[in-house]
Amino acid sequence: MQELFKKAWEKIEKSKNIILAAHINPDGDALGSSLSLYPILKKMGKNVKVFNVTKPLPMYLDFLPNFDKVTDKLPKNYDLLISFDCGSFDRLGIEEKPPFLINIDHHISNTKYGDINIIDSKAASSSQVVYNMLKANNIEIPSESAVCIYTALVTDTGSFQYESVNEKVFEMAAELVKCGVKPDFVAKMLFQRDRLSRLRLLAKAYDTIELCCEGKVAFVEVTKEMMEITGAIKDDTDTIVNSVRAIASVEVACMLREDDDGIKISLRSKNYADVSKVAVKYGGGGHIRAAGATINNEFDFEKVKEMLKKDLKEILKGEK
Ligand code: 5GP
Ligand code: MN
Repeated sequence: MQELFKKAWEKIEKSKNIILAAHINPDGDALGSSLSLYPILKKMGKNVKVFNVTKPLPMYLDFLPNFDKVTDKLPKNYDLLISFDCGSFDRLGIEEKPPFLINIDHHISNTKYGDINIIDSKAASSSQVVYNMLKANNIEIPSESAVCIYTALVTDTGSFQYESVNEKVFEMAAELVKCGVKPDFVAKMLFQRDRLSRLRLLAKAYDTIELCCEGKVAFVEVTKEMMEITGAIKDDTDTIVNSVRAIASVEVACMLREDDDGIKISLRSKNYADVSKVAVKYGGGGHIRAAGATINNEFDFEKVKEMLKKDLKEILKGEK
């Protein structure tokens, strides 16, 4: 890994026009990781652009330094693209292969589509991989970058709750606080600016919760109608599946959401089930404990649930 970090940094040093990009519908880790290098590369005199194909971007991340610099227009001429938190090339929303691509990620399902691939599936967030790369190259972390790296870490660890959290994660968090991060500010920005429409949507979605497989599996539904009635937006659905997983008996929670291009499934597990296996089967991806996919329009919720029940039974067999 250290060699890769050095090789990647050498490439960055040699490049002039650099694009920082992350996956479609970015979460805190995707956007935080891509924005984290912006001030550092700017200071190095690079021409840097942060690209994301999604419009509008999730507003709950609008406090990240340089959020307003993110563009959905890909510049024509550039030397290097660095992708963050993105498991496969198609999720970047870029048509043509970049002249050179550094792929920085922590998804177990990453397809290694870069010219340099820095994939650490043990990392708690992609921002931890970025942090390790900066450390390996003795790069000072300005507070603007630290806030982005820290926010990505908080969002991808469910506020330091997941199995990925260890001594290294807390050491890194402490270091970032030394660089100027105020944890209470980040927490307030992330968790104390809720939308009423989200709470109204939660109430409707919770009403649809269905338990099966002896209570080990929970399904929750979000329809277009619910979104319309409550005035909710896609961002408002982000954490529903996590709270459904919190039911005592549940090992796997699955949210089904009616999207324009099909049924979006979000899978979360608690202790032992590898949900990435199920997501990959439907053309998606993710991690052992959090994964997702979009199933095309041919099916309805009931049919999808029926298919998923069969798949989930398989991954529940691995109970420890
Ligand atoms: P979520 O359920 O919150 O959309 O995503 C959970 C995890 O699965 C995230 O790490 C996300 O990047 C990944 N994921 C979600 N949907 C897809 C998909 O359609 N394709 C791939 N490759 N990964 C996905
Ligand atoms: Mn991530």
